[in-house]
Amino acid sequence: MAQGQQPIFILPQNTSRYVGREAQRINILAGKILAETVRTTLGPKGMDKMLVDSLGDIVITNDGVTILREMDISHPAAKMLVEVAKTQEDEVGDGTTTAVIIAGELLKEAEKLIEMGVHPTIIALGYRNAALKAQEILEEISMEASDRDTLMKVAITAMTGKGSERAKEKLAELVVDAVMQVEEDGEIDKDNINIQRIQGASVNESRIVNGIVIDKSRADTSMPKRVENARIALLKYPIEVKDLETDAKIRLTDPSQMQAFIEQEEQMIRDMVEKIKSSGANVVFCQKGIDDLALHYLSREGIMALKRVKKSDIKRIEKATGARLVTNIDDLTAEDLGEAGVIYEKKIFDEVLTFIEECKDPKAISIILRGSTKHVAEEMERALEDAIGVVASTIEDREVVAGGGAPEVEIARKLREYADTISGREQLAVSAFADALEIVPKTLAENAGLDSIDVLVDLRAAHEESPYMGIDVFDGEIIDMKEAGVIEPQRVKKQAIQSAAEAAEMILRIDDMIAARGFDVSSKDEDDMEGMGGMGGMGGMGGMGGMGGMPPMM
Ligand code: ADP
Ligand code: MG
Repeated sequence: MAQGQQPIFILPQNTSRYVGREAQRINILAGKILAETVRTTLGPKGMDKMLVDSLGDIVITNDGVTILREMDISHPAAKMLVEVAKTQEDEVGDGTTTAVIIAGELLKEAEKLIEMGVHPTIIALGYRNAALKAQEILEEISMEASDRDTLMKVAITAMTGKGSERAKEKLAELVVDAVMQVEEDGEIDKDNINIQRIQGASVNESRIVNGIVIDKSRADTSMPKRVENARIALLKYPIEVKDLETDAKIRLTDPSQMQAFIEQEEQMIRDMVEKIKSSGANVVFCQKGIDDLALHYLSREGIMALKRVKKSDIKRIEKATGARLVTNIDDLTAEDLGEAGVIYEKKIFDEVLTFIEECKDPKAISIILRGSTKHVAEEMERALEDAIGVVASTIEDREVVAGGGAPEVEIARKLREYADTISGREQLAVSAFADALEIVPKTLAENAGLDSIDVLVDLRAAHEESPYMGIDVFDGEIIDMKEAGVIEPQRVKKQAIQSAAEAAEMILRIDDMIAARGFDVSSKDEDDMEGMGGMGGMGGMGGMGGMGGMPPMM
C-alpha cells in the first residue's frame, strides 16, 4: 500500500456495518421472517404455537404479541415489528397478529419495488399517503354501534378460535358485564378489571366478583377468616424488628442484657400492633413482611392481616376501598383507613383467595376465570384480555367494522382507485400498499385450508356489490360478515394499519446499519431462515464479528 493510502478506521474493530442495498435487504428479510412466523396463527382457524423458555416453562398460544414476546427476538429490524405488536396490544388489546403480518407484507412489497428501481424514499412516501387514505376509507366503511348486542358480537369475534372457543358465549357475557360496570363517563380503565385465573374446573364456572380478589391467604391461621364492616389499613412498612445480622453488631456482656434486649424487641412489635389497633383497623394489607411475633399479637387482637401483598393489588385496594397507603406505621391514623362491607378468605381448587367485597367504589371488579389445566386457563386469560380490549374500544369509540377480511379487501379496492389519481412512481407504492393489505384475507383463507388465490378473486368480485363481504372460514363461502355477526372495533384496524405502515416506513428509510461489537445483524441465506427454524440465525449474540462479506471500512 502506497504512502498516504493507509486505511483509516473510524469505527472500533469488530463493529459490523452494512450500507445501502445490503442494509435494506437484511432488514426487509428480518421483518418478513418475523411476519411469516406468526402468520399461521391468524384467524379462527389459525394454529397455536408451543414456546418453551430456557427454564422449560411452556406457553401454548395463538396470540401474536405473546409469541413475539416469548421468542426474545434480537434482530433490530425484527424488534421494530415486535414493537408494532406491543403498541397494538397496549392501544387496543387485539389485532396483534394482523398488525405484524401487514407490516411484513408491506416490506415484502417494498422489496419488489426496490428491485424494479424505485427508491425507498418514494416507497416510504407512498406508504405514508396510502396509510392516511386507508384511515379515511376505514371511516367510510365503519358502522356506528355500541349496543349490548354489538358488544357481544365484538367479544365473540375476538375470542373465536382461541382456547375459549367452547365457552365463548358465556365468557363474552362476563366480559361485556365487566367492562360495562367499570365504565366511567364513556371511558374504561382496564386496570379496574382484574382476572384471577384458577385451574381445576370448566370455563363455565367462571364468574364476576364485585370487588377485589387477591391470591393470598391470611398470614396466620388463628386470625379471623371473615371480617364484616372491614376497616382497612394499607402499609408499606415491615411489621418486624430490624434484622440485626445485617444491620448492626452488639456485644452482650451478661445474660440479663440479652433478656432486656429481647424484651425491647418485643416491646417494639407490641407498639406497632398497638398503633394499628388504636387506628381502628381490623384488617391489614402489608406490602412488606410481618414478624411471627407480630402475627401472634395481631391475631390476639382479632385483626386479619395479609403480608407481602403485591403492589398492583395494593393499588386496587386503595382505589376500591378509599384506604391510603401508609409508609411509616407511626403516621397511621383512622383517616388512612379504607372500608369494605366484608372481607373473607375462601379456597377454590388449590388456591386460597381473599375477597374484598361491598366496596365504596364498585368500579373495581374481578373475574374469576376457571380452566381445566394451567395452560388452558392461561390461554383463556389472553383471549379474555383481547375481548376486554375490543369491548372497551367499542364502548369508547362507538365505531365498528365487519371482520373476516372484509375491511382489508375494501380498503385495498378503494386504494387502487386512489392510486390511479396519483402520478409517478408513488402510484406504484400506493398500489403495493393495497396489495399488502390483502395479506389478511389471503392468510385467513390459507389457514382455513382454502385456496387463497381463488378466495381473493371471489372476494374482490363480491366487493363490487357490498363492502362487508368476507370469508366464512368454517365453510369456505364468501358471506356478508356484518350479517354473520363477525364484528370488530374500528380501532383494531386503524391502529394495525397505522403502526404497520409507520414501522415499514421507518425500516425502509434505513440505509446504513452500524452495530456494536458482538452484535451480528446479518442474515444468512434466505433458505436457511424460513420460518421458526431460522430464527436462531437472526442477529443472535453469536459474536460472529460481523465483518464477513462486507466491504472493508476504508
Ligand atoms: P389478531 O391477533 O390479529 O387479532 P386473530 O387470530 O385474533 O389475530 O385473528 C383475527 C382475524 O380473524 C380478523 O381478521 C378477524 O376478522 C378474523 N375473524 C375472527 N372471527 C372470524 C370468523 N368467525 N370468520 C371469519 N373471520 C374471523
Ligand atoms: Mg384477535
